[in-house]
Amino acid sequence: MEMTTLGEKLKSYGVVGAGGAGFPASVKASSRVEYVIANGAECEPLLHKDAELMAHYPAEILSGMRLMMEATGARRGKFGVKQKNAAAVGAIEKHLINAPIDMVTLGDFYPSGDEFELVPAATGRLVPPGGIPLQVGCLVSNVETLYNVYRAERGLPVTHKFLTVGGAVRTPKSFWVPIGTPFRELLEPAGGATTPDFGIFDSGIMMGALTFDLDDVVTKTTGGLIVLPRDHYLISHMERPVTAMHRIGRSACDQCSYCTEFCPRYLLGYDVMPHKVMRSLAFSLSGADLWNQSAELCCACGLCTLYACPEDLYPKEACDQAKHDLRAAGIKFVQRKPVEIHPMKEGRRVPLSMLRKRLKIEEYEREAPFVDVAIQPPAIRLILTKLPGVPPRPVVRAGQRVRMGEPVATLAEGELGADLHASIDGTVKAVSADGVEIEA
Ligand code: SF4
Ligand code: SF4
Repeated sequence: MEMTTLGEKLKSYGVVGAGGAGFPASVKASSRVEYVIANGAECEPLLHKDAELMAHYPAEILSGMRLMMEATGARRGKFGVKQKNAAAVGAIEKHLINAPIDMVTLGDFYPSGDEFELVPAATGRLVPPGGIPLQVGCLVSNVETLYNVYRAERGLPVTHKFLTVGGAVRTPKSFWVPIGTPFRELLEPAGGATTPDFGIFDSGIMMGALTFDLDDVVTKTTGGLIVLPRDHYLISHMERPVTAMHRIGRSACDQCSYCTEFCPRYLLGYDVMPHKVMRSLAFSLSGADLWNQSAELCCACGLCTLYACPEDLYPKEACDQAKHDLRAAGIKFVQRKPVEIHPMKEGRRVPLSMLRKRLKIEEYEREAPFVDVAIQPPAIRLILTKLPGVPPRPVVRAGQRVRMGEPVATLAEGELGADLHASIDGTVKAVSADGVEIEA
């Protein structure tokens, strides 16, 4: 079948949101909007991969942005980037002469990369509660996604992920990695871990997941690996079982409401109040359904748990549980009051420097410069089931030889998702509904 639209190419060449959500880019490319907003606002502490990508591939990113603008009929583009990333700002600015794209420079705050923060910063519009940017005429795309759009237009599939390896490693670096590479292959390019016993925050400390398994693999949404010593405060704090987090919260929360007062969604005017959600831990039989509704619009940024709570409790995890319980009970909270930005919004922004101090990671904040290394894993594992949309179905069998870039799992016409491609040359070792393993 000949591909005529950008959306078709993005689906066939496997482009999904590379910033974390993994939403199929083909769906966004098929919409009509007024603004395309490039999201280069990277705000996870110690991750620098978007800054490095913008500094080294500005023309490709802006080309991808123009393609998205053409496909969606957008009349203007907005490019969100932090002022502190001078190399990235300079590189992008050089390509903006006479372009219908404005630079939106942002302060160094967490979480400035949340779409609900970036859309008002770029356009002055607020995304409706429970809505998406498309409803206010905006399409937000991470800068790496735009780089992949540029490649897909040229018939090049997504085979590699750009990421940072930082934290307790000798020389933090940002580099390209074949998708499916096990984490154990990624420490050496960053000089190795500085401690024999460590944990890894997969895709960031604030919104990523803690793992100790070096056989975990890179996916299309992996933003980086942050290595921390096993005895670091954050690892002891976050490795607690969720049941223990809730048990401690039930007995120790004094309802001071700091978690709510610092919540970025609450400050934007959305009905998110984690201190009320904490009440549901104690009133599970009488009030949980009511309190849980204050979690519906939480974006899981982690600020309440990792920054705001003076008692070291877990309001973010209580919100995760509340959202799960609301789904199970078939309750959908709808915010009726208008969204109005809190008068203290600006004053309560959390600077990254303060966040790093609170997280006890100041000593690990270093640059993570781009290095052009060829990572050659002996084997890779492509996960089929992790992303939003329909999982692609394998089209290869064990024993088959594949070349990098060849499709290994595809979708039928009309299905929402993205195809998946071999990220190395090799032989298919195993195929299941969950994944495809390839040996180099
Ligand atoms: S900040 Fe902590 S102690 Fe205060 S209400 Fe929130 S969870 Fe409870
Ligand atoms: S994780 Fe906490 S701070 Fe972040 S949006 Fe949810 S409730 Fe608010």
